[in-house]
Amino acid sequence: MPTPTAFFQGQYVPLEDAKIGVMTHAFNYGTAVFEGVRGNWNDEEGQLYLFRVRDHIRRVLESSKIMRLGVQYSEDEIVTTVERVAEMSGFREDVYIRPLVYKSDEVVGLRMHNLAEDFLVFVTPFGAYLDPEAGVRCVTSSWRRVDDTMIPARAKVTGLYVNNAMAKTEAELNGVDEAIMLNQDGHVSEGSGENIVMMRHGRLVTPPPSDNILEGITLETALEIAKRELGLEVERRTIDRSELYIADEVFMTGTAAHVTPVTEIDRIPIGDGEFGEVSRLLQRRYFEAITGRIPEYADWLTPVYTGAAVEA
Ligand code: PMP
Repeated sequence: MPTPTAFFQGQYVPLEDAKIGVMTHAFNYGTAVFEGVRGNWNDEEGQLYLFRVRDHIRRVLESSKIMRLGVQYSEDEIVTTVERVAEMSGFREDVYIRPLVYKSDEVVGLRMHNLAEDFLVFVTPFGAYLDPEAGVRCVTSSWRRVDDTMIPARAKVTGLYVNNAMAKTEAELNGVDEAIMLNQDGHVSEGSGENIVMMRHGRLVTPPPSDNILEGITLETALEIAKRELGLEVERRTIDRSELYIADEVFMTGTAAHVTPVTEIDRIPIGDGEFGEVSRLLQRRYFEAITGRIPEYADWLTPVYTGAAVEA
């Protein structure tokens, strides 16, 4: 049986014992940064593979630096802690691991300085976030993506995510799967939890970091696969909303969302409304890579169960 485990206040504890107080600064003001790392289950091997765990930990350390959040652990220590939490939890299915650095003082007052901080990790089972077979139906959100002059857009700040949550809810209440958020200038930024890529005139195009995107690890992965396997280069430039409508293909990338083709935007079919060839291939190769089925991409993976096979 799995035993969901957390790393909390410097110790490995059962998940149900990892609780914060109601006055915790991060809970009241969103003063925390986080990551999402996927563990992908390979049933034939009885193995759980963490995907690009070190890259996620580097990003949480960058987010912490931007937000003036001190972290009392080194990069190596955090990587080891994430691996250990996954191993101790013993899941035999896809999981999502959440490292989080937060202002832990139980005090009222708006500031980022002179506050205690702590680090925690938890893990939870997590299946498909967007339907990989059906693809994604999107609307352009009426909520603009937060600007870097408001909240650092390249940092995964918990408080920032109300922006994304509002966009996602608007999309779902309008009967589709996902929102596409425009930036303050009205150009395409990203999904509520995914980066966005289009295929146009035989090239892959994605917005630059200065359009307030999160610098996605899945995005880099998909672009790397596209380069190695299809010889496709990427152009990073500003994209207009109307340009997406006439793209040959559009797909979204994200730790939760994997690589998932977009079939329509604002009720306009993308291409012929079916999965495009490039999106389909990238989606397939990405799934094979993250579940340990492509030796060439094994460097991206950390097997969790190194000792005896985990009990069924
Ligand atoms: N944009 C946002 C707003 C996100 O939350 C995420 C998920 N972390 C992404 C893009 C995709 O990033 P990644 O591929 O690194 O998960």
